[in-house]
Amino acid sequence: LDKVSVLGVSFDNKTKETFLKELIERIRHNKKTFVVTANPEIVMYAKKNADYMSLLNEADYIAADGIGIIKGAKILETPIVERVAGFDLLTNLLEKASQQGSRVYFLGAKEDVLQSAVQNVQKKYPSIQIVGSRNGYFDFSDSSIIEAVQATQPDMVFVALGFPKQEQWIHQYMTTASKGLLMGVGGSFDVLSG
Ligand code: UDP
Repeated sequence: LDKVSVLGVSFDNKTKETFLKELIERIRHNKKTFVVTANPEIVMYAKKNADYMSLLNEADYIAADGIGIIKGAKILETPIVERVAGFDLLTNLLEKASQQGSRVYFLGAKEDVLQSAVQNVQKKYPSIQIVGSRNGYFDFSDSSIIEAVQATQPDMVFVALGFPKQEQWIHQYMTTASKGLLMGVGGSFDVLSG
């Protein structure tokens, strides 16, 4: 099966390697791409929130982020090949971005966390092009933020606002975006800042 539904969330049944290959191919072709990495918490939240559920299922990819999803799929007798952790996708994409000179934008987390995450990424991947960053404490209804991010013409935008905010914001971004891969990364900037 190409897609596996767990409590209404339609997961991509792909290895991490295939995932990355497809994402990188889409970036190369300037195809806009909305990636969700969903753990059991997100699935349970979506189950109770119809709007969030339909927004998730509009994503281009939903990765099974968490062993709970893998176990659930197995119990439902529609196994998913492997866990695809959001943090792994993030670090693999950063590495690719550095090799290919992709334009990367970091949105979210507290200002000090964001600044040290950006610094650490720049140090680890010297040839990465970070075209902008903004902390995650702004008015989410302010569409000028979306315009400001789009103006930097990013190939990848990593959005660390926690769920459901990050997926809601990305969904809004996608309605006016012409290109870019956008992925919600939860607390990943906190990890990168350490
Ligand atoms: N965050 C943010 N703006 C907000 C709420 C949260 O930038 O309005 C950031 C927060 O600083 C943290 C990240 O979102 O860096 C992830 O938060 P959390 O760990 O609660 O999210 P989860 O990983 O559970 O999705």
